[in-house]
Amino acid sequence: MSGVKVTRKAESRIESGHPWIFSSDVAERGQAQPGEVVRVLNLRGQCLGVAHYSSTSQIVLRMLSRKDQVVDRAFYLARLQAALKHRQHVVRESDSYRLVHAEGDLLPGLIVDRYGDYLSVQLLDQGMDTASEVLTSCLEEVVQPKGILARNDVPVRKLESLPLVPKVLSGELPERVPVKMNGLSLEADLLHGQKTGVYLDQRENYVAAAHWARGRALDCFTSTGGFALHMAPNCESVEGIDSSAEALKTATANRDANGLKNVTFREANAFDYLAGLAAGRRHFDTVVLDPPAFAKSKTNMDAAMRGYKEINFKALRLLQPGGVLVTCSCSHHVNEGTLLQLVAEAALDAGKTLRVLERRAQAQDHPILLTVPETLYLKCLIFEVL
Ligand code: SAH
Repeated sequence: MSGVKVTRKAESRIESGHPWIFSSDVAERGQAQPGEVVRVLNLRGQCLGVAHYSSTSQIVLRMLSRKDQVVDRAFYLARLQAALKHRQHVVRESDSYRLVHAEGDLLPGLIVDRYGDYLSVQLLDQGMDTASEVLTSCLEEVVQPKGILARNDVPVRKLESLPLVPKVLSGELPERVPVKMNGLSLEADLLHGQKTGVYLDQRENYVAAAHWARGRALDCFTSTGGFALHMAPNCESVEGIDSSAEALKTATANRDANGLKNVTFREANAFDYLAGLAAGRRHFDTVVLDPPAFAKSKTNMDAAMRGYKEINFKALRLLQPGGVLVTCSCSHHVNEGTLLQLVAEAALDAGKTLRVLERRAQAQDHPILLTVPETLYLKCLIFEVL
């Protein structure tokens, strides 16, 4: 095992429970090879733990353990078994969930999503890419999937100088995978595009939104219909809108597969459509906003904040007393406090008083590590208009 020496600053970062060491805090890389498991050493040569080494990324080390331990098949197997055990506690009435949430499961650089009998894996750093075979064999042992696909076409792999080509790691993958979520039958596309069409991280928020939803509901950014289909049984009618015709095709197929008769989908730009509804003095009893991440990095924060405020303002204008707003943000740069503040400003501008019904995050199969703020990325706030 090679040793990599880190600065005092990195040492205190590790002590504070964060697993990432940036290149500016690496003192000596020694003989470390791309993707190798290395010993992390302080300037006096004492071992601080073991990490995956990346030769190209700004994140040079991702801590695997704060003990000086061997990282072998048994190590990965134990972490994967622990990950599965947690899901067995937190996932209900669904055969699809995130089995491994990288840092949240003490496996930085690894994401494993389970869709029924199939796994979709993302190997996001050189270390996990190097461990691909052993991880495949461990996953086969832990969940006996019919097929494992590595979605290696994710852009962050570029930072690791890794190829961006998807790869079947074992078994076979069908064109469409049937998925059960909260009792609904949905369809996942694991092979094409960046999106599978099933949003695992909203699984619990769908149930929460359905609990509060009533009357005439509007689901903005509906994509394949997640919120719309969950809310339908408790609503008079649901209208789902999205700018992607492709996503709406799947939404319609999902709707029909579940025999839901009170849901319609429409292709539209949410900003314009909401403005048109307000101009036409239309009212809704429930509005859901689940936009894409407006803030992909810290540099476009101002524009992103304006976007969130505008969309919330426009949605609030459609709601009357007793109305319900479900508003989400999946940008981890916009924290819960900021989102609450933006919605408060939008509500004041729209002349509405809001009661907070629920402050939620991503589903529990996407665990949040207290000392790694990056693991909390999805916020889902539910309000009632007074
Ligand atoms: N709510 C969905 C996931 C939404 S993902 C679910 O739970 O299943 C974000 C969606 O926003 C994508 O489907 C994308 O097509 C859509 N989108 C992005 N910009 C949009 C816009 N300006 N108007 C309407 N839809 C938009």
